[in-house]
Amino acid sequence: MIVYDDENVFAKILRGDIPCTKVYEDEHVLAFEDINPQAPVHILVIPKGKYVSMTDFSELATAAEIVAFNRAIYKVADIKGIKEPGYRILANSGADSHQEVPHFHIHVFGGRMLGPMLSE
Ligand code: AMP
Repeated sequence: MIVYDDENVFAKILRGDIPCTKVYEDEHVLAFEDINPQAPVHILVIPKGKYVSMTDFSELATAAEIVAFNRAIYKVADIKGIKEPGYRILANSGADSHQEVPHFHIHVFGGRMLGPMLSE
């Protein structure tokens, strides 16, 4: 069973315990600037529900949460002006992926040519 850690940094952002630079928010989703950007545009999109990774989000989230999450990616790309010429989304899930924060999130990268999908 996947156990959610209420003290992870994104849980603290959702509670308002620590600040973030918000890009988009609705009933189910929050999107904010990554604190250590890897591209000119680097946004994190997170569900407000307590999901650790893509694994339990895909399995357990409601249809409304999943739709809102997917729409939020589009909205972030629109707000940041990267629908064209394009962007990349990435979700680390679990130890092999080097997921650092155990609250499900998708990275949205853009603003430059992004190069090959994996560096090694
Ligand atoms: P991951 O390795 O996929 O778990 O990515 C975690 C991301 O969270 C990294 O890109 C970090 O730079 C980012 N991050 C960590 N703490 C914060 C924070 N307080 N505000 C915004 N982004 C953060």
